[in-house]
Amino acid sequence: MKTAVYPGTFDPVTNGHIDIIERASKLFDRLYVLVGENPQKETTFTAEDRVEMLKNALKKHSSRVSVEHFEGLLLDYAKKKRSNVIVRGLRAISDFEYEFQRAQFNREFAKDIETIFIMTKDDYAFLSSSIIKEIAMFGGSVKGFVPEIVEKKLKEKFRK
Ligand code: ADP
Repeated sequence: MKTAVYPGTFDPVTNGHIDIIERASKLFDRLYVLVGENPQKETTFTAEDRVEMLKNALKKHSSRVSVEHFEGLLLDYAKKKRSNVIVRGLRAISDFEYEFQRAQFNREFAKDIETIFIMTKDDYAFLSSSIIKEIAMFGGSVKGFVPEIVEKKLKEKFRK
């Protein structure tokens, strides 16, 4: 059985993430979407909210995909899930350096875990969770860029 993990902050999940999940899920028997913390940035949504939004957005998707919150080292968590593949999405050259460094680091510490990259769909190349938050914060429409549940949660958050 081929199992992979797709880790990220998902603060909040966008249609760019969903596209990567859909495409990755066709390559594996099981895909764990892992919602984690990024020590470099404080999140807008709690871990609970981020997991809930992903679960809601994926409820009509393949039963081979599941969403979990995780803490600690990704490599340890991947091993616990008996997964030897880490999936990441790539948008532009600007993603490359960060992703390259992480993939190298992970290989150094777990030689049997491979990182694979899925290129963004053209339509979503410019899409990031931070851009979405910026648009929503200033009252713009994020329709078509995020799942409906995220649109709703963003409205609630920035109305306050
Ligand atoms: P992290 O803080 O770990 O980078 P993110 O939630 O920002 O978490 O991103 C998770 C993964 O999804 C990363 O590999 C990122 O490059 C990828 N990703 C984010 N947005 C898109 C998009 N629009 N298209 C393709 N991949 C994306």
